[in-house]
Formats: sequence, C-alpha cells, structure tokens
Amino acid sequence: KALEERLKKSIRTIPDYPQPGILFYDITTLFQDPEAYKLAIDHLVERVRPFRPDVIVGPEARGFVVGGPLAYALGVGFAFVRKPGKLPREVVTAEYEKEYGPDSLAIHRDALLPGQRVVVADDLLATGGTMGATVDLVRKLGGEVVAAAFLIELAHLGGRKFLLEEKKVPEVVTL
Ligand code: IMP
Repeated sequence: KALEERLKKSIRTIPDYPQPGILFYDITTLFQDPEAYKLAIDHLVERVRPFRPDVIVGPEARGFVVGGPLAYALGVGFAFVRKPGKLPREVVTAEYEKEYGPDSLAIHRDALLPGQRVVVADDLLATGGTMGATVDLVRKLGGEVVAAAFLIELAHLGGRKFLLEEKKVPEVVTL
C-alpha cells in the first residue's frame, strides 16, 4: 500500500498525449526520484526471483531501464530487443500491430540459448503488443518465456488478458 502510494505520487499523467483522448503515464518522474526507482526495482526483483530466469529480455527503450537492473540484481544476463537497424549482428525480427499499422522489433540471433528460462520486462503494459512481439522473438531463438514483468499495468487496455489468452506468457507480474 505504502509502495503503491509512493509510486503513484512519482508518476505524472499527461492528458491528450501523444494524441487526443490518450492519457499518457509519464514514468520519467519515477526514474528521476531515486527512492521511488530503487523501491520499485527492489520489489520487482522479489516478484521475478521465484521464476528463476537465466536471462532477462527487454524492449527499447524503457525496458532497458527496468530489465537491466533486474538482471543485475538477480545475477543473470540481459538481452536487448531493439527497433530494426540498431543491432550490428545477425538478427531475427517479429512484426506486431500498433495503433497506426505494423511495426517490428529485432534481437540478435545469439542473444540467448535454446531452453533458457526467460523473463521479459518493460516499464508499462498497455495493449501487450510490444511484449507479445518480444515474446515471439524469444521463442524464435528457442527460449522458454516463464513470466512477463512490468512496473505499471494499464489494466483497462487489456494487455494482461491478451498475453495470457494468446499464450504468450504463463504469468504476468507487476508491483
Ligand atoms: P503496448 O505495446 O500497447 O502494451 O504498449 C507498451 C509499450 O508502449 C511500452 O514499451 C511502453 O513503454 C509504451 N507505452 C504505452 N503507453 C504508455 C504510457 O502511457 N506511458 C509510457 N509508456 C507507454
């Protein structure tokens, strides 16, 4: 409860950004607040630990700021999911639908080993499209996605339902 209040206070909401009708959750203020950032990551670490991941995978850009510290704290590696054209070596890609048509994400082909237990992590779960594509990438490499972790869930956008019903992930964890 105290954590919830603390985090709520550290997140701004911006009406009509990036388009009219959207209430944008600006989490830059959470990361600017050292106590809130540490509290949030420390809690998420304990939520993720029971899944015993071998590697954390996060999509750019805020997935790095959440997934990186998770990996560090759990003593495992981190793999980068990026927009196409950003990774220097051989990649696999996955397409997904955004509000304005298709988009895609990429991962290095050698980012993880078949059979490794993977927790995928990002700052915020909205429709689940970004994480769905991230999971597709992990699976193309033979990784076993054991959970998806987020700091914040916008529950009304149905991302958790999408990820679970489409069997993208067996568990969704948030603070
Ligand atoms: P989804 O793919 O619809 O689940 O959207 C989640 C992705 O978009 C995450 O990578 C978020 O960083 C970003 N995102 C979507 N909505 C918001 C928001 O209100 N605040 C911050 N990030 C958002």
